[in-house]
Amino acid sequence: MNKPRLGFFKYSCCAGCEFQTFYFQKHLAETLAAFDIVYAKMVLRGGAPEGPFDLALVEGTITEAWQVDELKKVRKNSTLLFAIGACAVNGGIPAIKALAPELEVEEKVYKDLSTIHSIRPQPINVYVPVDGYIRGCPPGARDLYEALTSVLAQKKPGFLTYSVCVECKLERNICILVAYGMPCMGPVTNAGCGALCPTYKRPCYSCFGAMKQANAPALAHKFRKLGLSEDDIRRKFTMFDANSAESRKAADFSED
Ligand code: SF4
Ligand code: SF4
Ligand code: SF4
Repeated sequence: MNKPRLGFFKYSCCAGCEFQTFYFQKHLAETLAAFDIVYAKMVLRGGAPEGPFDLALVEGTITEAWQVDELKKVRKNSTLLFAIGACAVNGGIPAIKALAPELEVEEKVYKDLSTIHSIRPQPINVYVPVDGYIRGCPPGARDLYEALTSVLAQKKPGFLTYSVCVECKLERNICILVAYGMPCMGPVTNAGCGALCPTYKRPCYSCFGAMKQANAPALAHKFRKLGLSEDDIRRKFTMFDANSAESRKAADFSED
């Protein structure tokens, strides 16, 4: 039986998701061995083949017009396409730029703007249909396994939809928000990491992105009571998905 053909595509990002997938998950190697990895920009030599691909994993934010064209071709040539990492899923860190007027950031960073052709930073689902979202910056082992094994088993991936707090309780952690007044984003953040940060007594900073239907204004209110400034609150809710309605709502509500 032929192995499923896997292509790993990269747009504007640090490539950490690609390295996380191929190098930093020691038990993922066996699962990856069940795929024919035909393209991985940072890991394999050679350009992207035309396809077809059984699975395209796409990391990175879309920030330039040529990326839109290529992404659409990848979508056309792929049976399944998953967004991998906060950049592709939500816009991630590069989408912070969307909070400032267009060009303002470029003017601060580049002396000569003649070679800069960036467009508003967007997650990939703005341009193409996406079959699955492997969240995180970078993603964790659970969602990586779930995504890859679901393709091998020809079933829908079972990504989690509840909050990091649920995972935190399952780990039997003491709540650092309640017990120590640490500004933890767990209540509004999508699960999948196993409550990694609170387990080590560090506040979640929401790298898995906003959970759907989270009560973001209530958490913003709690942060204000803890003494965080409006700017700090806004930054917390927009660090990883400045484009999402949930995050923007929280940032706007933070002045209520
Ligand atoms: S999601 Fe994080 S680790 Fe992955 S490419 Fe973007 S910045 Fe890098
Ligand atoms: S520590 Fe954070 S993630 Fe854990 S229960 Fe408290 S608020 Fe939720
Ligand atoms: S606890 Fe929050 S910041 Fe830490 S890995 Fe999980 S989602 Fe990301």
